Amino acid sequence: MKRVYFDYAATTPLDKEVLEKMIPYFSEKFGNPSSIYSEGREARKVIDEARQKVANSINANANEIFFTGGGTEADNWALKGVAFANKNKGNHIITTVIEHHAVLHTCEYLEKHGFEVTYLKVDEYGLIDIEELKTLIKDTTILISIMFANNEIGTVQPIKEIGQIAKEKNIYFHTDAVQALGNVPIDVRDLKVDLLSISAHKIYGPKGIGALYVRKGVKVDNLVHGGAQERKKRAGTENTPAVVGFGEACYLAVTDLLKRNQKTEELRDYLIKSILSTVPNVQLNGHPTKRLPGNANISFEFIEGESLLLSLDLVGISASSGSACTSGSLDPSHVLLAIGLIHEIAHGSLRVTLGKNTNKEEIDYLLEQLPPIVQRLRDMSPLYIQGGK
Ligand SMILES: *Cc1c(COP(=O)(O)O)cnc(C)c1O
Repeated sequence: MKRVYFDYAATTPLDKEVLEKMIPYFSEKFGNPSSIYSEGREARKVIDEARQKVANSINANANEIFFTGGGTEADNWALKGVAFANKNKGNHIITTVIEHHAVLHTCEYLEKHGFEVTYLKVDEYGLIDIEELKTLIKDTTILISIMFANNEIGTVQPIKEIGQIAKEKNIYFHTDAVQALGNVPIDVRDLKVDLLSISAHKIYGPKGIGALYVRKGVKVDNLVHGGAQERKKRAGTENTPAVVGFGEACYLAVTDLLKRNQKTEELRDYLIKSILSTVPNVQLNGHPTKRLPGNANISFEFIEGESLLLSLDLVGISASSGSACTSGSLDPSHVLLAIGLIHEIAHGSLRVTLGKNTNKEEIDYLLEQLPPIVQRLRDMSPLYIQGGK
């Protein structure tokens, strides 16, 4: 049976071009980039080239890019690194209730270590209120961490406005841009971002590598201590093949971005419109327009997202009921609860995320399979029957 993949927000397949660039660095070109003989120098050179490509993709300087073991590490480092390096200035951090767990659980950890964290609420679309953000800033605020685009509902925040406020108040601003890269143009200078997290496997690069952009002059403690790699900020022998792959993936991610987006948005809107018009008792989650081009998140009343996922899987369709981290647990997604969904509705949610190669045939296959599955699950649901539907 053919499989159709609709979970590009969870991870993406490695691009063929990316893989080809990586392969030599697993075997023939295995030198340690810290070695001064030619094998080492060659590895150093390709790492520097990759760093430049990553920097170009967000309009940063190469010396502001620090490779990490992925998006999660970049988020951990940004928060802990800024918190501990600036605790003489204050102990207050502002974030939002809809962040990825890489940020939320790091904040919980920091709360246990003397930091105070304020969790900004969001509206029904998942957007923060800029005026509310202003009122939360205190003399002790050292960091604002607000995600660029949400991984579950796709809502894109007003990053430039947040950056402006942070700059005026002299507070560091970190954004988790893991979902934004390759989907939204990013210019760290224009947006006035001080720290920004990205990850390769969300943009058709390898897993286990990401980067933290740290604007020149920002004070940040190390997360990982050891050797002198990454200009003494992140120790450990560089993962040369992964770095090379990440550089290439970043280059490809921002090439023809707007053209690619247009195609993806058209398919997404076709998908959303079709579901909303053919399946009763459904609602779209997230913002109607300020959302990632490939994200559709829809709640189906009277059913369980998990049952829906399993039924779709049986007909060859892979999607998500929220984030990969929440699937498998019985707690409804913290993001869906934050936008005001009641537990029952939040539980019946489906996240369909499109990739750059998603085509209309795949969408049509989903549109053909989904309505009868929803109906069958509802027919078995006591809630649906009680509702007299
Ligand atoms: C995937 C993701 C992460 C984690 O990145 P990894 O590279 O998988 O560790 C962090 N934040 C967001 C918004 C994500 O979507």
